[in-house]
This record gives sequence, structure tokens and C-alpha cells, in this order.
Amino acid sequence: MPFAVRIVSTSVEKEVVGVREAEAAPRSGPAHYIGGRFDREGTTFPLVNPVDGTVVGAVPEAGAGTVDRAVRAARDAVTGDWGRSTAEERGALLRRIADGIEDRFDEFVAAEVADTGKPVSLASTVDIPRAAANFRAYADLVWGRPERSFTSPTPDGAGALNYTVRRPLGVVAVVAPWNLPLLLLTWKVAPALAAGNAVVAKPSELTPSTATLLAEVMDTVGVPPGVFNLVHGFGEGSAGAMLTGHPGVDAVAFTGESATGTAIMRSVAERLAPVSFELGGKNPALVFADADFDAAVDGTVRSAFTNAGQVCLCTERVYVERAIFDDFVAALAERARALRVGRPEQDGTDMGPLVSAEHRDKVLDYYRLAEREGAKTHAGGAAPRFGDERDRGFFVEPTVLTGLAPDARAVREEIFGPVCHVAPFDDEVEAVRLANDSKYGLAATVWTSSLSRAHRVAPQLEAGIVWVNCWNLRDLRTPFGGVKASGIGREGGEHSLDFFSEPVNVCVKL
Ligand code: NAD
Repeated sequence: MPFAVRIVSTSVEKEVVGVREAEAAPRSGPAHYIGGRFDREGTTFPLVNPVDGTVVGAVPEAGAGTVDRAVRAARDAVTGDWGRSTAEERGALLRRIADGIEDRFDEFVAAEVADTGKPVSLASTVDIPRAAANFRAYADLVWGRPERSFTSPTPDGAGALNYTVRRPLGVVAVVAPWNLPLLLLTWKVAPALAAGNAVVAKPSELTPSTATLLAEVMDTVGVPPGVFNLVHGFGEGSAGAMLTGHPGVDAVAFTGESATGTAIMRSVAERLAPVSFELGGKNPALVFADADFDAAVDGTVRSAFTNAGQVCLCTERVYVERAIFDDFVAALAERARALRVGRPEQDGTDMGPLVSAEHRDKVLDYYRLAEREGAKTHAGGAAPRFGDERDRGFFVEPTVLTGLAPDARAVREEIFGPVCHVAPFDDEVEAVRLANDSKYGLAATVWTSSLSRAHRVAPQLEAGIVWVNCWNLRDLRTPFGGVKASGIGREGGEHSLDFFSEPVNVCVKL
């Protein structure tokens, strides 16, 4: 059946499929979604509430057979009607997916909050709206995409016409992390589908719920069977590695740790599959004495502590011009101490728990390591005590450190928690040198009121994204990605569409 027909006949199809689909619907928890069917095949692992550490559900773990079924379903889709679909048809479908997310907005928010512990205020203003926006953005971008053509001279004088058509890559694996689960998954799924690929997605084992809701939306709005498939599980030795290593996967789009990127690259090396990698960061902020002081403090509080520091773009290294260093540290520490750490659903909560016990332990280990390395702790530095069930949850305090040497591990390694280290600099040259002294290069922030300094410094910073007097302002059309160990390739706008399709040059002799 042509997919366009299915878009408008969803309700009829539901009636025909009837009871069986209703029984299989995953409303009681995470499920795989393969070839248009939900299932929970495989052993399960527990889903844990980060607020109090209780087990709240079970997640099926896909084995090799399940992953193989998903890849085959995707292959069938991409070699069938979906592979012949037009950009206009796919754009219409993407808009329906965006509508479908918005129709179930509250469910998506609740699921994201339950899995991650992030404040409702964040999930409802960033994560879920952005997920819908990702589909809308690529519906527009794929439709409005210009291609170039050239008329070339030929020896006989008749000439030739060259033009480019774009072909989807085929079956694309999308592997996502837990920090912005739906936002980052859809950031890849939307352009992959817009370009005409079929997708097998694997969300993080810690945050399977919104991906499952997304599969429900795909099912409801009439995404043809096999175009979007979902498998759950872990990384190494589990669904993640089985998927990226599957010979039927034509390309891998991955967001996560740099070390995982290395492992995935090894797994695709044999078959030379293209990769798009968004990896870790240890992002610097440079605060010059001529900056608007309050704006710089405010922006650094946001950039260090949003989502409990669990955003790849978060600032973990702050360099402040010496003339304002002491005042800046005092103001930042005061603001960090004032952040309200607590239940995600409570009004006014600034920071929820970290995502897991393992991650909480890792972050607290870094707090202790920093102290051993000679840090002075100006705010935080430990796990808060609430005197209730939250003490079994995964909370840590927002933390401000100073006094570490440039080669301290806490300055060099990504912690991915609500913590930043502040160090002084004396001039612009030193500021740029310190900022670039990292194996990572994802984002950097510059606070200055000097226009010429901003333009002078920004291009010297080894980062894929440089913000001046702001942080995390994102226009979805702009390139997004990192240099050095922070990534390979760029996403965003036409960059994603470039990755998810192959240009084919057609040369016609006139
Ligand atoms: P992670 O690398 O541990 O896991 C990410 C995903 O990869 C998960 O779905 C996991 O199951 C899977 N995975 C793990 N090992 C695998 C393997 N060998 N083969 C295939 N899949 C595998 O990362 P995380 O802890 O979920 O996320 C935090 C990390 O992500 C941080 O380093 C952060 O900086 C980074 N991140 C980067 C960006 C960016 O845009 N650059 C955005 C968000 C997060």
C-alpha cells in the first residue's frame, strides 16, 4: 500500500487490525516497535525512579534476533514504497508526527520527567517542544532544499547538463543518550526520515519511555510499518552494539560519550559505514572584565547547572579576568547555593536528581577527586540530605570549585554534573590558550561588551559552537557539532540532510 494512502486511513486500519493491536499497545511501559508492531520480546531490566531509587517498571532488552528483525523491517520499508516517497509526502508525515507529540504533550512530559528526574519546567519548555519542533523544522527544510545544476561545455559544442539528486542512505541506526532523551533522538530521527531513510532507533537504557511514546505516535499518525523501528537495551554486548555492528545498517548517527564513539567507529570500520557523532565536552566560558557582570553570572549559572549539568553544552570550565575574579566566584557560588534542588514536579525546583545511582557516584567521585587535587569548594561538593525518601535518590549539590591546576583531572575530564571550576586569566591570549587546552571542542561561551574582542576571540576558539553573551541559543538551521574529541560531522539544518543522503550527480549530454 502506498504510504500516502495509509496516512489518511489510519483510523480504518486500526479498526481492521482491531483487538490485537490494542492488546499489544505499550501503554504499560517500554516496548520494542518493529515493522509496525509493538512487542516486549527478550529478558527485561529494571526502570528506576531517580528521585527515590525505586523500581518503577521493566524494560525489554533486545537480543541479536530482535535487532535483526528491526533492521530487516527497515530494509523492507526503504526498498518499498517509502523509498519512492516524495519530499512533500514525507514532510506532511513529519508534521503529523509533530502534531501527534503535541496532542500527547502532558504524557510525554510526565514520561521524560519520570525517567530522568529533570524538572517539569524544563521538560515542558525545552525537551518536548523541541522534539515536536525537530519534526516541523525538517518537514520545511527537506521541501525547500535547493540543488545546483551546471551546464558544461562538450567537445562537440552541444554541452551537457549536470544536476544533483539526493538519495537516502538506506537503513540508519540512531543511538541516543539519556540527558535529553526525546530531543536528541528526534534531532536525528526527523532528518533521517525527511531524507527518506528507514530508522532503527535505540534510546538509552535509562530513558526508554518517551521513545516508546514516539513509536505510538508514529503508529497513530500512519508512519508505514518498518520506517521507524525501536529497540531497547544497553550498549556494549547488547542492543546498542548489535545494532551499530549489524551489516544491514548503512549509517550510524550517535550521540553519547566520546569513548562510545570510538567503540562504534570500530564496529562500522569493516563495512565503511558513515557516522555522525555528537560526543562529549568540557566546555569553557571566558568572562572578560568588560562584560555585563550580572548577565555573565546569570548566564554561567544557567550554563553550568541547567539539567543538573547534564547537557553536553554545559560549561565546566570558567575562566575569569583577574580584575573581577573574586567577585565573580563569590556571586556564582551564592547563586549556586540558592538553587532549589528537589522534586522535579515541585514548582520552583531548579535542579532534580542526576539520572542514575551510577552517574551520581561518578559525579561525587569527581567532587572528592577535585578536593584531593587541591580544589577549594565555594558551593556544594556533596549530596544533599533531605530527611525523606529523596535520600535514596540520586541528588547532588550544585558545586563551584577554584584552585585546580590546568592538568588536574577534574579540569580535563568531562564530569557531566552540576559543577564548574573557575580559574583566573590575565589577558586575551592566555584566555584563548586556556580555553583551547582540552581534548574536547564542543561549545564555548564569551562574555564581553567589546564587539571587536568578541569577533577576535570567537574564531580562535577550538569549538563547533561559540556563544557570545548568551548560552544555548539554538536556531535549528545552524550547524551543530564538535571538533577534536567532541564529534565528527555537523547536524542541524541542511547539514543533517547532507549526512542522511547521498548526492548523485546526473550528467545529461544535450
Ligand atoms: P553513552 O555513550 O554511555 O551512551 C549513549 C548511547 O550509546 C546509549 O543508548 C547506550 O546504550 C549506547 N551505547 C553504549 N555503548 C555502546 C556501544 N559500544 N555500541 C553501541 N551503542 C552503545 O552516553 P550517555 O552516558 O548516555 O550520555 C552522556 C554523554 O553524551 C556525555 O559524554 C555527553 O557529553 C554526551 N552528549 C553529547 C551531546 C552532543 O551533542 N555532543 C549531546 C548529549 C550528550
